[in-house]
Amino acid sequence: MPRTEPQRTCLGCREEKGKNELLRYVLDPEGTVVPDLLAKLPGRGAYTCFCRDCVEKAASRKQFARAFKGEVKGATSQELQSKIVCRLEERIASYLALANKAGKIVSGSDMVMEAIRKGKRIGLVIMAGDVSAEIGDKVANMAARDGIPCFRILDKDRIGGLLGKGLRSVVAIEVGGFVPPLVKELQRFGNFLDGGAVDEQDPRV
Ligand SMILES: [Zn+2]
Repeated sequence: MPRTEPQRTCLGCREEKGKNELLRYVLDPEGTVVPDLLAKLPGRGAYTCFCRDCVEKAASRKQFARAFKGEVKGATSQELQSKIVCRLEERIASYLALANKAGKIVSGSDMVMEAIRKGKRIGLVIMAGDVSAEIGDKVANMAARDGIPCFRILDKDRIGGLLGKGLRSVVAIEVGGFVPPLVKELQRFGNFLDGGAVDEQDPRV
């Protein structure tokens, strides 16, 4: 990591941070504020921390209009948050689909628990948000014992669909190239959601 990373100011808390730590936004051609998770979209960028609180503050103080110097659309806190959550989920879903294509996924709670028990090299466990409490606890405990990171996201239907299967409440990803980017996205997702309580809404369409 270069130490002289360009600095940008968060529109919410006004703190200056390294550009890569912040979430970038651009305006699309219709003047709608779009979160740019990969920081690759063309145009002038505006930034917030990767947390709900700062998005909320920036939106309620109309900081996006100020940053983009004019009227903007889609810049309420709710709109921005649901777009961010949706995009984070898409990123995670696409990594899962790729890992599945590469044959690096074990799916189904029994298969995952067996894989962990047998010492298969598992790098990451993902559980659906709607996994049953009993299975969720069992798998989480097993993963914790072996020091395997474990996250909850999406739902059984969506995870199953990504794998081309029926409902799947638990999947494990084998140690390898898919694990680090997935963990990074899952952490960003978790950090974002932890950064302030807001009414839950289902961003999935
Ligand atoms: Zn901030």
